[in-house]
Amino acid sequence: METTDAFTGLDCVDCGASFDAAAEHHTCPDCDGFLDPTYDYDTIELDRETLAARPFDSLWRYEELLPFTRESAVTTNEGATALVDCPDLADELGVERLLIKDDGRNPTGSTRDRGQSVALTAASQHGASDVALATTGNGGQAAAAYAGRAGLASHSYVPSRSSFSNKAMINVHGGDMNVVGGRYDDAVGAFEEGLAENEEWYSVQSFVTPYRHEGAKTTLYEIVEGLEWEVPDVVVYPTGVGVGLVGAYKAATELQKLGLVDGLPGLYAAQADGCAPIVDAFENDRDEHESVETPDTICGEIEIADPPASARVLEALRETDGGAVATEDRDILEAAVQVAQHEGLELAPSPAAAASGVWELAERGEFDGSETVVVVNTASGNKEGDVLRSHLMSQGV
Ligand SMILES: [Zn+2]
Repeated sequence: METTDAFTGLDCVDCGASFDAAAEHHTCPDCDGFLDPTYDYDTIELDRETLAARPFDSLWRYEELLPFTRESAVTTNEGATALVDCPDLADELGVERLLIKDDGRNPTGSTRDRGQSVALTAASQHGASDVALATTGNGGQAAAAYAGRAGLASHSYVPSRSSFSNKAMINVHGGDMNVVGGRYDDAVGAFEEGLAENEEWYSVQSFVTPYRHEGAKTTLYEIVEGLEWEVPDVVVYPTGVGVGLVGAYKAATELQKLGLVDGLPGLYAAQADGCAPIVDAFENDRDEHESVETPDTICGEIEIADPPASARVLEALRETDGGAVATEDRDILEAAVQVAQHEGLELAPSPAAAASGVWELAERGEFDGSETVVVVNTASGNKEGDVLRSHLMSQGV
């Protein structure tokens, strides 16, 4: 494998066992916990000036903090997305600064490109012929795109409710798509059956492959570097499985270890009321979620009733003195429309839960006016323009 110098292998987050990355692809062979890439941080020489001298062109500019070399990467220059100041929104919310990290500007229109770039690099280096996953939609689109680039076949299992644009683009990228009646859990069941029947399939499922949260962590590097190394007070992630938050927590601690920053940002999970297992667990001081029996939200990308790594997501929120917030679908869609109309940015319904969540936090009086707040837009609004427009029509516009 063409790994980077400081990359040392994979550690199980549950039992702590260490593994060689060339030998293990997925979860812990001892306890089935998820594996986390590890590094010898003492050997990484990365300072602010070195990074400033590099072009802001893709997530691979943080190569020293990734498992694989930039030269070996399966990449379409994902990452390096804009961090956009929204001063009017900051005024309205009563905070010092409000910025939107616009990961909708990735090659396939979602933040999933980051994780799939790293996961497909791993799959390629392991000699995989086929990659497979269950997905609410964007992850499958990204997997199909990167598999195509790497010359691998891809198999996505998507729930029937997944957006038309995701389904269409999985096919356009040449991916094999299995539409499963029902919701995400049903797609996971069908995916697991497919995986059992096809020995050659290599999973690029979040928290099965060790590499999706590893790619996702780069969003936070970019946020902090974009703020000229001032750690924001609050970063709000729309949260389904929680890959973004687990990655962000790792990234924040890495920046500290390297001496690039002091302190951690407060990490917040934003969910929809109709499916908020992380928020519910956070508010009730539980270490893990309880499954939502009948999930029901318009935000399909974050409608995850049974998030497998909830303990890690909750750890990220608590260890950073962050929080969790859920809002109703109509407030979420309204937040997307307000941001589109007044800031010019396009948030898909699921990431609009993060914008709506910030409004809710402001109404609860959680801000004192001095904060820098970052909302992570994980997917472009034009992926689900029909859903956003239907909200306008429900308002009689
Ligand atoms: Zn283990």
